[in-house]
Amino acid sequence: MMQSQEIRKQFLAFFENKKHTIVPSAPMVIKDDPTLMFTNAGMNQFKEFFLGNKKPKNSRVTDTQKCLRVSGKHNDLEEVGKDTYHHTMFEMLGNWSFGDYFKKEAIQWAWELLTEVFKVDKDMLYVTIFEGDEKEGLQRDTEAYDIWKEFISEDRILNGNKKDNFWEMGEQGPCGPCSEIHVDIRSAEEKAKVPGKDLVNKDHPEVIEVWNLVFIQFNRKADSSLEELPAQHIDTGMGFERLCMVLQNKKSNYDTDVFTPLIREIETITNSKYGKEEEIDIAIRVIADHVRAVSFAIADGQLPSNTGAGYVIRRILRRAIRYGFTFLNEKEPFIYKLVDTLENQMHEAFPELRSQKGIIENVIKEEEHSFLRTLDQGLQLLDNVIAGSKSKTISGKKAFELYDTYGFPIDLTALILSEKGFELDTESFDVELQKQKERSRKATKIETGDWHELIEDDEEEFVGYDMLQTKVKITRYRKV
Ligand code: ATP
Ligand code: MG
Ligand code: MG
Ligand code: MG
Repeated sequence: MMQSQEIRKQFLAFFENKKHTIVPSAPMVIKDDPTLMFTNAGMNQFKEFFLGNKKPKNSRVTDTQKCLRVSGKHNDLEEVGKDTYHHTMFEMLGNWSFGDYFKKEAIQWAWELLTEVFKVDKDMLYVTIFEGDEKEGLQRDTEAYDIWKEFISEDRILNGNKKDNFWEMGEQGPCGPCSEIHVDIRSAEEKAKVPGKDLVNKDHPEVIEVWNLVFIQFNRKADSSLEELPAQHIDTGMGFERLCMVLQNKKSNYDTDVFTPLIREIETITNSKYGKEEEIDIAIRVIADHVRAVSFAIADGQLPSNTGAGYVIRRILRRAIRYGFTFLNEKEPFIYKLVDTLENQMHEAFPELRSQKGIIENVIKEEEHSFLRTLDQGLQLLDNVIAGSKSKTISGKKAFELYDTYGFPIDLTALILSEKGFELDTESFDVELQKQKERSRKATKIETGDWHELIEDDEEEFVGYDMLQTKVKITRYRKV
């Protein structure tokens, strides 16, 4: 069985052989982009090349990018742990052409790597091409179709809609059709029952997307019309953990050697067993996933805090702590102990985990300590609220108390309620939150008088509430 380390190396070596320069992953935590808090795709660090604002040194590059998908357009948090192939933090392997090669090579090389180097059985593969969109005046990608049919039988080339097979950076700017590669890892028996092509892009845990090849060929103008770009680009992204699952013949990313050392360690520390009971399995998967996200974020210099990216990290960690507390009966800090295993396994590809190890452990341990101090009481309060509730909808007032006094992120409260068949009234939570903001604003004004000046009514994403994609206004003050 090929180890994950080896799989990563072979991917990069393959493209190096095709004249690509191997570049390092960009940080996962983004400091200088007001539109994005975390890297969520390999292409993020190359955005300026596609926009034509900067010229690349090399026209072909390849890398593995650490990504986090917990906010904004790509938010997979709710799936993580429940399914077996979405993570918060994951590696995206990619190859890029900046005005160099285009569809033909991108498709040919993806096929060559998967079927010849990695020896994936062709009968497990399906590909999708963009079917076109009349309303939008977008053509079917017959070019991609014609290239694909040289490699794969035509009944395995499927049409995909705009949502899955047309990529746009934003309202304006570079965009284009994409082709995705999907792998059907079901048993022969299952395959006989339902054809794989009916399950592509249907959230089936064993018919999953592994690689997305984006063909950037248009520019969307301000009036929303499209023009052909003078230079065409390739942007691809393959989920590393999913690739490992396929190559290691597993049914779940968590059964690959990317995750098994962490899972074994969780079993040992918490005296639990993975693979017996669904509730416990979810908890173990969540913890194995979240410790990676939090560790990589801290290694990037992002500590848990009460605002912005720091609050996202705090939210992820508190979510993991609660899963450990409720389902694995862990009442003392233990997640920090997993950092050692993670570092051991990943430091070769990501040396920052080694150099920052001590800090990562201390920060996680401290955060576990502080949340565990109030978690038990908070959970009891929530139990009482549920017991006393006549309705299936719980008022945001109580959720606000949990947030304010016990440090429960709002999405954690919503998650716990949903486990018990209840719902949270998020609107009344919002009202409470606004009231608090008013109070603290007034307090600041009274307390400091002329010493504070209002600099701007800065609209900032309030990430504690980001699950609902709501923007809340936060007023910032500066000392003058
Ligand atoms: P999916 O449809 O499975 O959610 P996607 O279409 O959102 O994936 P892309 O944006 O096309 O994903 O990203 C490129 C590749 O990254 C995907 O083909 C997949 O292999 C991988 N990937 C995407 N999201 C995740 C995730 N949350 N965890 C692990 N791998 C992921
Ligand atoms: Mg997705
Ligand atoms: Mg998809
Ligand atoms: Mg995709």
